Amino acid sequence: RTVYVNGEYLPEEDAKISIFDRSFLMADGVYEVTSVLDGKLIDFEGHKVRLERSLNELDMQKPEAFDDLLEIHRELVRANEITDGLVYLQVSRGSAGDRDFAYPSEDVKPTLVLFTQNKPGLADSPAAKKGIKVISIEDQRWGRRDIKTVQLLYPSMGKMMAKAAGADDAWMVEDGFVTEGTSNNAYIVKGNTIITRQLSNDILHGITRAAVLRFAKEAQMTVEERSFTMEEAKEADEAFITSASTFVMPVVEMDGVPVGTGEVGSVAPRLREIYLDESRKAAV
Ligand code: PMP
Repeated sequence: RTVYVNGEYLPEEDAKISIFDRSFLMADGVYEVTSVLDGKLIDFEGHKVRLERSLNELDMQKPEAFDDLLEIHRELVRANEITDGLVYLQVSRGSAGDRDFAYPSEDVKPTLVLFTQNKPGLADSPAAKKGIKVISIEDQRWGRRDIKTVQLLYPSMGKMMAKAAGADDAWMVEDGFVTEGTSNNAYIVKGNTIITRQLSNDILHGITRAAVLRFAKEAQMTVEERSFTMEEAKEADEAFITSASTFVMPVVEMDGVPVGTGEVGSVAPRLREIYLDESRKAAV
C-alpha cells in the first residue's frame, strides 16, 4: 500500500513518524475518514471543513498541504486502486523532539498522514440488509466530542463491550440521554419523524448526519433535533446510525429488546438509498 506522510508518497513499510509525535504520546491529533465509492470521494468538502474546525478548536496549525488535500486523496485512491473503501487522514501537532505537556513552538510543523483502506462492496454490506444490534453504555468520554480527536480508547472499549454482549455497537448515554454511537450518530424514527440529538459539544457533528437530515427534510420527513432516552428509543418504530463508513445503517435491537418489529423498517433503507444516490452523484 502507498501511504502519504508529510509531503511524500511511500510504501507503508517505509513510512516513519517520530516516537515523540504528540499524537502518539498525548493523543494530540485530529482525523477524518472519507469514503470512496466507484473511485470517487463522498462528502469530501464536508470532511475538509470539519478538519479545519477541529484544528482551529485545538489551536493546531493547518498542515502546509491543506489546500492540496483533494489531490492527495485522489492520488492515494489511484495509487492503491481503490474502487470502494476509505481514506484516513490524521493531523497531529508534531513534536519538538521531547515529551512536554505544553504545546511546542509555532515553528514545529504538524504531522500529516493519510492512508487508504480497501473495502470492496462497501455500499452493499449485508449488515445494512439485516440491521445491527446495539447495547447502551455510560458515556465516559471527555467533554469536547465535537472535536474529532484520535483519543478513541473509550469508543474502542465500548465496541468491545458490545461484542462481549453479542451486539455490534454501543450507544452511549449521559445524564439519561443518548449522545451517539461509538463511531456514529444515533437516530430513532416515530412515524414520519426522525429524532436525533441536537448539535453541541457533546457529540461529533457528523458529515453524514448533516447530509441525511437535509435529504430527510427534502423527502418531506419531519426532523426533530433533540435528546432522547434509551427507553424512548426502545419504543420507537425504527432506529438507525449514520457515519461516513456505514452511511445509513438500521438498528434492529437495543439491549436485547427488538426495535419496532425487530426487522429492518422502511425509513432507514429509504434514507440509505437517497443518501447513496445523491452522494454518488456529488462525489469528487
Ligand atoms: N460520532 C462519532 C463519535 C464518530 O466517531 C463518527 C465517525 N467518525 C460519527 C459520529 C459520524 O461522523 P461522520 O458522519 O462524519 O463520519
